[in-house]
Amino acid sequence: MTNRLVLVINCGSSSIKFALRQEGQSEAVLSGLAERLGSPQASLSFKSGEQSHQASLHGNEHVDALSALLPLIENHAGQPPSAVGHRVVHGGEHFTGARVIDQEVMDAIEANAPLAPLHNPANLIGIRAAMGVFTDVPHVAIFDTAFHQSMPAHAYRYALPDELYTLHGVRRYGFHGTSHQYVTNQASILAGMNAGEGAWLSAHLGNGCSSCAVLNGRSLDTSMGLTPLEGLVMGTRSGDVDPNLHAHLARTLGWDLERIERLLNRESGLLGLSGLTNDMRQLEQARADGHHGARLAIEVFCYRLARSLAGLAVALPRLDGLIFTGGIGENSALVRALTLSHLGILGLNLDPDRNIALPRGQAGAIQGHGSPAVLVIPTDEERQIAEESLALLDTQTRSS
Ligand code: AMP
Repeated sequence: MTNRLVLVINCGSSSIKFALRQEGQSEAVLSGLAERLGSPQASLSFKSGEQSHQASLHGNEHVDALSALLPLIENHAGQPPSAVGHRVVHGGEHFTGARVIDQEVMDAIEANAPLAPLHNPANLIGIRAAMGVFTDVPHVAIFDTAFHQSMPAHAYRYALPDELYTLHGVRRYGFHGTSHQYVTNQASILAGMNAGEGAWLSAHLGNGCSSCAVLNGRSLDTSMGLTPLEGLVMGTRSGDVDPNLHAHLARTLGWDLERIERLLNRESGLLGLSGLTNDMRQLEQARADGHHGARLAIEVFCYRLARSLAGLAVALPRLDGLIFTGGIGENSALVRALTLSHLGILGLNLDPDRNIALPRGQAGAIQGHGSPAVLVIPTDEERQIAEESLALLDTQTRSS
Protein backbone atom coordinates (compact mmCIF):
# COMPACT_ATOMS: atom_id res chain seq x y z
CA MET A 1 0.00 0.00 0.00
CA THR A 2 1.43 3.39 -0.90
CA ASN A 3 0.39 7.01 -0.91
CA ARG A 4 -2.45 6.69 1.52
CA LEU A 5 -4.00 9.95 2.64
CA VAL A 6 -5.00 10.87 6.17
CA LEU A 7 -7.19 13.83 7.00
CA VAL A 8 -6.01 15.26 10.33
CA ILE A 9 -8.59 17.26 12.26
CA ASN A 10 -8.16 19.45 15.32
CA CYS A 11 -11.59 20.65 16.33
CA GLY A 12 -12.34 23.55 18.67
CA SER A 13 -15.75 24.84 19.75
CA SER A 14 -15.91 27.33 16.86
CA SER A 15 -13.08 26.20 14.60
CA ILE A 16 -11.65 23.23 12.75
CA LYS A 17 -7.98 23.12 11.84
CA PHE A 18 -7.31 20.48 9.23
CA ALA A 19 -4.50 19.02 7.14
CA LEU A 20 -4.51 16.36 4.48
CA ARG A 21 -1.29 14.37 4.79
CA GLN A 22 0.06 11.82 2.36
CA GLU A 23 2.03 8.87 3.67
CA GLY A 24 5.78 9.49 3.53
CA GLN A 25 5.43 13.17 2.55
CA SER A 26 6.70 15.93 4.81
CA GLU A 27 4.37 18.62 3.37
CA ALA A 28 0.57 18.65 3.62
CA VAL A 29 -1.36 18.18 0.37
CA LEU A 30 -3.93 20.60 1.71
CA SER A 31 -4.27 22.45 4.99
CA GLY A 32 -6.55 25.08 6.38
CA LEU A 33 -8.92 26.43 8.93
CA ALA A 34 -12.68 26.76 9.29
CA GLU A 35 -13.36 29.62 11.69
CA ARG A 36 -16.20 31.38 13.48
CA LEU A 37 -18.34 28.27 13.14
CA GLY A 38 -21.77 28.72 14.66
CA SER A 39 -21.86 32.39 13.60
CA PRO A 40 -23.00 34.08 10.35
CA GLN A 41 -19.32 34.91 9.65
CA ALA A 42 -18.31 31.23 9.38
CA SER A 43 -15.58 30.79 6.79
CA LEU A 44 -13.20 28.18 5.43
CA SER A 45 -9.76 29.00 4.07
CA PHE A 46 -7.15 26.55 2.87
CA LYS A 47 -3.72 26.30 1.31
CA SER A 48 -2.56 23.93 -1.35
CA GLY A 49 1.14 24.36 -2.13
CA GLU A 50 1.80 28.10 -2.04
CA GLN A 51 -1.74 29.01 -3.09
CA SER A 52 -4.31 30.24 -0.56
CA HIS A 53 -8.03 29.85 -1.23
CA GLN A 54 -11.38 30.56 0.31
CA ALA A 55 -14.19 27.98 0.05
CA SER A 56 -17.89 28.75 0.37
CA LEU A 57 -19.98 27.09 3.07
CA HIS A 58 -23.62 26.02 2.82
CA GLY A 59 -24.34 26.55 6.49
CA ASN A 60 -22.25 27.57 9.48
CA GLU A 61 -21.92 24.40 11.55
CA HIS A 62 -18.96 22.03 11.93
CA VAL A 63 -20.66 19.51 9.68
CA ASP A 64 -21.04 22.17 6.94
CA ALA A 65 -17.31 22.93 7.01
CA LEU A 66 -16.43 19.24 6.79
CA SER A 67 -18.96 18.72 3.96
CA ALA A 68 -17.23 21.53 2.05
CA LEU A 69 -13.90 19.78 2.64
CA LEU A 70 -14.87 16.49 1.01
CA PRO A 71 -15.00 17.77 -2.63
CA LEU A 72 -11.85 19.87 -2.00
CA ILE A 73 -9.94 16.75 -1.02
CA GLU A 74 -11.15 14.85 -4.04
CA ASN A 75 -10.24 17.77 -6.34
CA HIS A 76 -6.75 18.27 -4.90
CA ALA A 77 -5.77 14.69 -4.12
CA GLY A 78 -7.84 12.73 -6.63
CA GLN A 79 -8.87 10.24 -3.94
CA PRO A 80 -10.65 10.25 -0.59
CA PRO A 81 -8.65 9.85 2.64
CA SER A 82 -7.94 6.33 3.92
CA ALA A 83 -8.45 7.51 7.50
CA VAL A 84 -9.39 10.54 9.55
CA GLY A 85 -7.10 11.27 12.52
CA HIS A 86 -8.62 13.36 15.31
CA ARG A 87 -6.56 15.24 17.85
CA VAL A 88 -8.20 14.78 21.24
CA VAL A 89 -6.87 16.75 24.19
CA HIS A 90 -7.65 14.59 27.22
CA GLY A 91 -7.64 10.82 27.23
CA GLY A 92 -7.31 10.57 31.01
CA GLU A 93 -6.06 7.15 32.06
CA HIS A 94 -8.22 5.40 29.47
CA PHE A 95 -5.84 5.77 26.57
CA THR A 96 -2.16 4.96 26.31
CA GLY A 97 -2.06 5.26 22.51
CA ALA A 98 -4.12 5.85 19.37
CA ARG A 99 -7.54 4.19 19.17
CA VAL A 100 -10.00 3.56 16.34
CA ILE A 101 -13.08 5.51 17.37
CA ASP A 102 -16.17 3.55 18.31
CA GLN A 103 -18.96 4.22 20.78
CA GLU A 104 -16.81 3.06 23.70
CA VAL A 105 -14.03 5.50 22.77
CA MET A 106 -16.53 8.36 22.39
CA ASP A 107 -18.02 7.55 25.80
CA ALA A 108 -14.55 7.63 27.35
CA ILE A 109 -13.76 11.01 25.72
CA GLU A 110 -17.03 12.29 27.17
CA ALA A 111 -16.20 10.81 30.59
CA ASN A 112 -12.93 12.74 30.55
CA ALA A 113 -14.64 16.04 29.70
CA PRO A 114 -14.52 17.31 33.33
CA LEU A 115 -10.70 17.23 33.00
CA ALA A 116 -10.76 19.32 29.79
CA PRO A 117 -14.10 21.12 29.74
CA LEU A 118 -13.15 23.46 26.91
CA HIS A 119 -11.54 20.87 24.67
CA ASN A 120 -13.03 17.38 24.90
CA PRO A 121 -16.65 18.38 24.13
CA ALA A 122 -15.41 20.35 21.09
CA ASN A 123 -13.30 17.38 19.98
CA LEU A 124 -16.42 15.20 20.18
CA ILE A 125 -18.41 17.65 18.05
CA GLY A 126 -15.70 17.31 15.40
CA ILE A 127 -15.64 13.52 15.63
CA ARG A 128 -19.42 13.20 15.26
CA ALA A 129 -19.53 15.68 12.36
CA ALA A 130 -16.62 14.03 10.56
CA MET A 131 -18.10 10.56 11.00
CA GLY A 132 -21.26 11.86 9.33
CA VAL A 133 -19.32 13.20 6.34
CA PHE A 134 -16.43 10.72 5.90
CA THR A 135 -18.61 7.66 6.38
CA ASP A 136 -16.62 4.81 4.87
CA VAL A 137 -13.22 5.29 6.52
CA PRO A 138 -11.87 4.54 9.98
CA HIS A 139 -11.64 7.48 12.38
CA VAL A 140 -8.73 7.40 14.81
CA ALA A 141 -8.34 9.38 18.04
CA ILE A 142 -4.85 10.57 19.04
CA PHE A 143 -4.67 11.90 22.58
CA ASP A 144 -2.41 14.71 23.79
CA THR A 145 -2.12 12.91 27.09
CA ALA A 146 -1.48 9.34 25.86
CA PHE A 147 2.29 9.63 25.40
CA HIS A 148 2.67 10.55 29.07
CA GLN A 149 0.79 7.51 30.36
CA SER A 150 4.20 5.83 30.69
CA MET A 151 5.10 8.17 33.57
CA PRO A 152 5.73 6.30 36.84
CA ALA A 153 3.47 6.99 39.81
CA HIS A 154 6.20 8.94 41.61
CA ALA A 155 6.07 11.44 38.72
CA TYR A 156 2.32 11.60 38.15
CA ARG A 157 0.95 11.61 41.71
CA TYR A 158 0.35 14.81 43.64
CA ALA A 159 0.96 14.71 47.38
CA LEU A 160 -2.77 14.78 48.08
CA PRO A 161 -5.07 12.31 49.86
CA ASP A 162 -5.36 9.07 47.94
CA GLU A 163 -9.08 9.26 47.22
CA LEU A 164 -8.68 12.44 45.19
CA TYR A 165 -6.73 10.28 42.76
CA THR A 166 -8.62 7.01 43.04
CA LEU A 167 -12.13 8.49 43.04
CA HIS A 168 -11.66 11.74 41.15
CA GLY A 169 -8.69 11.25 38.82
CA VAL A 170 -6.66 14.10 40.33
CA ARG A 171 -3.12 13.37 39.08
CA ARG A 172 -0.62 14.75 36.61
CA TYR A 173 -1.46 13.82 32.99
CA GLY A 174 0.78 16.00 30.82
CA PHE A 175 0.01 17.39 27.36
CA HIS A 176 1.77 18.11 24.04
CA GLY A 177 2.47 14.36 23.91
CA THR A 178 2.26 14.22 20.12
CA SER A 179 4.89 16.93 19.79
CA HIS A 180 7.30 15.53 22.40
CA GLN A 181 7.01 12.10 20.80
CA TYR A 182 7.60 13.43 17.29
CA VAL A 183 10.64 15.56 18.11
CA THR A 184 12.36 13.00 20.33
CA ASN A 185 11.91 10.41 17.58
CA GLN A 186 13.40 12.83 15.03
CA ALA A 187 16.23 13.64 17.47
CA SER A 188 17.29 10.01 17.67
CA ILE A 189 17.37 9.80 13.87
CA LEU A 190 19.35 13.06 13.66
CA ALA A 191 21.80 11.73 16.26
CA GLY A 192 22.35 8.54 14.26
CA MET A 193 20.54 6.25 16.72
CA ASN A 194 17.66 3.89 16.01
CA ALA A 195 14.34 5.75 15.78
CA GLY A 196 13.00 6.40 19.26
CA GLU A 197 16.26 5.64 21.09
CA GLY A 198 18.02 7.94 23.52
CA ALA A 199 17.67 9.95 26.71
CA TRP A 200 16.21 13.35 25.83
CA LEU A 201 14.91 16.51 27.38
CA SER A 202 12.35 18.17 25.12
CA ALA A 203 11.13 21.78 25.36
CA HIS A 204 7.97 22.54 23.39
CA LEU A 205 7.75 26.34 23.46
CA GLY A 206 4.79 27.86 21.66
CA ASN A 207 1.86 29.80 23.06
CA GLY A 208 1.54 26.81 25.37
CA CYS A 209 4.84 25.50 26.72
CA SER A 210 5.89 22.21 28.27
CA SER A 211 9.05 20.26 28.93
CA CYS A 212 9.44 16.50 29.00
CA ALA A 213 11.99 13.79 29.85
CA VAL A 214 11.91 10.93 27.35
CA LEU A 215 13.86 7.68 27.56
CA ASN A 216 13.81 5.32 24.57
CA GLY A 217 10.51 6.71 23.29
CA ARG A 218 8.76 6.73 26.68
CA SER A 219 7.78 9.84 28.59
CA LEU A 220 9.10 9.63 32.16
CA ASP A 221 8.03 13.05 33.40
CA THR A 222 6.66 16.31 32.06
CA SER A 223 5.95 19.81 33.30
CA MET A 224 2.19 20.03 32.66
CA GLY A 225 -0.12 18.35 35.13
CA LEU A 226 -3.83 17.82 35.74
CA THR A 227 -4.43 20.67 33.31
CA PRO A 228 -2.20 22.49 30.79
CA LEU A 229 -1.65 25.32 33.32
CA GLU A 230 1.03 23.65 35.44
CA GLY A 231 4.73 24.11 34.79
CA LEU A 232 6.46 26.60 32.55
CA VAL A 233 5.75 30.28 31.95
CA MET A 234 3.64 30.45 28.76
CA GLY A 235 2.17 33.14 26.50
CA THR A 236 -0.72 34.07 28.77
CA ARG A 237 -0.60 31.22 31.32
CA SER A 238 1.26 31.63 34.61
CA GLY A 239 2.60 28.09 34.91
CA ASP A 240 3.49 27.13 38.51
CA VAL A 241 2.41 29.48 41.25
CA ASP A 242 2.02 28.88 44.96
CA PRO A 243 -1.09 26.67 45.24
CA ASN A 244 -2.26 28.93 48.05
CA LEU A 245 -2.51 31.87 45.64
CA HIS A 246 -6.20 31.08 45.05
CA ALA A 247 -7.03 31.41 48.75
CA HIS A 248 -4.84 34.48 49.09
CA LEU A 249 -6.57 36.31 46.21
CA ALA A 250 -10.00 35.25 47.44
CA ARG A 251 -9.29 36.50 50.94
CA THR A 252 -7.41 39.69 50.17
CA LEU A 253 -9.10 40.84 46.95
CA GLY A 254 -12.42 38.97 47.17
CA TRP A 255 -11.85 37.31 43.79
CA ASP A 256 -14.01 34.35 42.81
CA LEU A 257 -12.81 31.22 40.99
CA GLU A 258 -13.75 32.49 37.56
CA ARG A 259 -11.71 35.68 38.07
CA ILE A 260 -8.72 33.71 39.32
CA GLU A 261 -8.90 31.22 36.44
CA ARG A 262 -8.98 34.13 33.97
CA LEU A 263 -5.95 35.68 35.68
CA LEU A 264 -3.89 32.49 35.56
CA ASN A 265 -4.90 31.34 32.06
CA ARG A 266 -5.37 34.54 30.09
CA GLU A 267 -3.66 37.46 31.80
CA SER A 268 -0.42 36.01 33.11
CA GLY A 269 2.72 34.47 31.58
CA LEU A 270 4.72 36.59 29.15
CA LEU A 271 1.77 38.96 28.76
CA GLY A 272 1.34 39.54 32.48
CA LEU A 273 5.03 39.88 33.26
CA SER A 274 5.79 42.24 30.39
CA GLY A 275 2.57 44.22 30.55
CA LEU A 276 2.92 44.32 26.77
CA THR A 277 2.21 41.16 24.77
CA ASN A 278 2.30 37.36 24.80
CA ASP A 279 4.15 37.32 21.47
CA MET A 280 7.83 36.43 21.83
CA ARG A 281 8.81 38.13 18.57
CA GLN A 282 7.40 41.45 19.80
CA LEU A 283 8.96 40.94 23.22
CA GLU A 284 12.40 40.43 21.69
CA GLN A 285 11.99 43.65 19.75
CA ALA A 286 10.80 45.53 22.84
CA ARG A 287 13.71 44.15 24.88
CA ALA A 288 16.12 45.39 22.24
CA ASP A 289 14.42 48.81 22.52
CA GLY A 290 15.06 48.82 26.30
CA HIS A 291 11.58 47.84 27.57
CA HIS A 292 12.02 46.70 31.16
CA GLY A 293 8.93 44.44 31.29
CA ALA A 294 9.94 42.65 28.09
CA ARG A 295 13.42 41.99 29.45
CA LEU A 296 12.02 40.65 32.72
CA ALA A 297 9.43 38.46 30.98
CA ILE A 298 12.07 36.82 28.79
CA GLU A 299 14.45 36.34 31.72
CA VAL A 300 11.79 34.68 33.88
CA PHE A 301 10.63 32.55 30.94
CA CYS A 302 14.15 31.22 30.29
CA TYR A 303 15.14 30.76 33.93
CA ARG A 304 11.97 28.86 34.75
CA LEU A 305 12.43 26.71 31.64
CA ALA A 306 16.02 25.89 32.63
CA ARG A 307 14.92 25.08 36.18
CA SER A 308 12.26 22.74 34.86
CA LEU A 309 14.69 21.00 32.50
CA ALA A 310 17.28 20.56 35.23
CA GLY A 311 14.57 19.07 37.47
CA LEU A 312 13.36 16.70 34.76
CA ALA A 313 16.92 15.51 34.16
CA VAL A 314 16.68 13.42 37.36
CA ALA A 315 14.21 11.15 35.52
CA LEU A 316 16.94 10.13 33.05
CA PRO A 317 19.92 7.79 33.52
CA ARG A 318 22.08 10.04 31.31
CA LEU A 319 21.49 12.94 28.93
CA ASP A 320 21.92 12.47 25.18
CA GLY A 321 20.54 15.88 24.39
CA LEU A 322 18.07 18.74 24.70
CA ILE A 323 15.54 19.56 21.98
CA PHE A 324 13.92 22.94 21.32
CA THR A 325 10.66 23.03 19.35
CA GLY A 326 7.45 25.07 18.93
CA GLY A 327 7.26 28.62 17.54
CA ILE A 328 9.63 30.01 20.18
CA GLY A 329 11.94 27.01 20.47
CA GLU A 330 12.39 26.77 16.71
CA ASN A 331 12.85 30.49 16.09
CA SER A 332 14.26 32.30 19.09
CA ALA A 333 18.04 32.12 19.28
CA LEU A 334 17.82 34.50 22.25
CA VAL A 335 15.57 32.18 24.30
CA ARG A 336 17.81 29.22 23.50
CA ALA A 337 20.94 31.12 24.52
CA LEU A 338 19.50 32.52 27.77
CA THR A 339 18.10 29.11 28.74
CA LEU A 340 21.41 27.37 28.06
CA SER A 341 23.23 30.00 30.12
CA HIS A 342 21.55 28.42 33.20
CA LEU A 343 22.22 24.80 32.24
CA GLY A 344 25.97 24.39 32.71
CA ILE A 345 25.10 22.03 35.58
CA LEU A 346 23.96 19.49 32.96
CA GLY A 347 27.15 19.95 30.94
CA LEU A 348 25.17 21.71 28.21
CA ASN A 349 26.58 24.59 26.21
CA LEU A 350 25.84 26.27 22.89
CA ASP A 351 27.85 27.15 19.86
CA PRO A 352 26.67 30.79 19.61
CA ASP A 353 27.33 31.07 15.89
CA ARG A 354 25.45 27.89 15.03
CA ASN A 355 22.61 28.98 17.30
CA ILE A 356 22.15 32.25 15.43
CA ALA A 357 22.89 30.92 11.95
CA LEU A 358 20.44 28.00 11.97
CA PRO A 359 17.98 28.66 9.12
CA ARG A 360 14.36 29.05 10.16
CA GLY A 361 12.22 25.93 9.82
CA GLN A 362 15.25 23.66 9.62
CA ALA A 363 16.38 20.98 12.04
CA GLY A 364 19.96 21.26 13.27
CA ALA A 365 22.48 20.77 16.06
CA ILE A 366 23.72 23.87 17.89
CA GLN A 367 25.71 22.51 20.85
CA GLY A 368 29.21 23.68 21.64
CA HIS A 369 32.31 21.59 22.23
CA GLY A 370 31.95 18.75 24.74
CA SER A 371 28.21 19.30 25.29
CA PRO A 372 25.43 16.72 24.91
CA ALA A 373 23.43 17.44 21.73
CA VAL A 374 21.35 20.62 21.64
CA LEU A 375 18.91 20.25 18.77
CA VAL A 376 16.34 22.48 17.15
CA ILE A 377 13.63 20.34 15.56
CA PRO A 378 10.50 21.81 13.95
CA THR A 379 7.55 19.94 15.39
CA ASP A 380 4.94 18.40 13.09
CA GLU A 381 2.04 17.17 15.17
CA GLU A 382 -0.14 16.59 12.11
CA ARG A 383 2.42 14.29 10.58
CA GLN A 384 2.71 12.38 13.85
CA ILE A 385 -1.10 12.03 14.02
CA ALA A 386 -1.26 10.85 10.39
CA GLU A 387 1.54 8.32 10.90
CA GLU A 388 0.13 7.00 14.16
CA SER A 389 -3.31 6.62 12.56
CA LEU A 390 -1.91 4.58 9.68
CA ALA A 391 0.34 2.52 11.96
CA LEU A 392 -2.67 1.60 14.11
CA LEU A 393 -4.71 0.59 11.08
CA ASP A 394 -1.82 -1.51 9.76
CA THR A 395 -1.50 -3.29 13.12
CA GLN A 396 -5.21 -4.01 13.13
CA THR A 397 -5.12 -5.33 9.55
CA ARG A 398 -2.19 -7.63 10.40
CA SER A 399 -3.89 -9.01 13.50
CA SER A 400 -7.31 -9.59 11.86
P1 AMP B 1 3.26 28.42 18.31
O1 AMP B 1 2.17 28.38 19.35
O2 AMP B 1 4.07 27.16 18.27
O3 AMP B 1 2.77 28.84 16.96
O4 AMP B 1 4.28 29.56 18.78
C1 AMP B 1 3.88 30.90 18.93
C2 AMP B 1 5.01 31.70 19.56
O5 AMP B 1 6.20 31.58 18.74
C3 AMP B 1 4.72 33.18 19.69
O6 AMP B 1 5.16 33.64 20.96
C4 AMP B 1 5.58 33.78 18.61
O7 AMP B 1 5.95 35.11 18.89
C5 AMP B 1 6.79 32.86 18.64
N1 AMP B 1 7.61 33.03 17.45
C6 AMP B 1 7.29 32.74 16.17
N2 AMP B 1 8.29 33.15 15.33
C7 AMP B 1 9.26 33.69 16.11
C8 AMP B 1 10.53 34.30 15.86
N3 AMP B 1 11.00 34.42 14.62
N4 AMP B 1 11.25 34.74 16.91
C9 AMP B 1 10.78 34.63 18.18
N5 AMP B 1 9.57 34.08 18.47
C10 AMP B 1 8.83 33.62 17.46
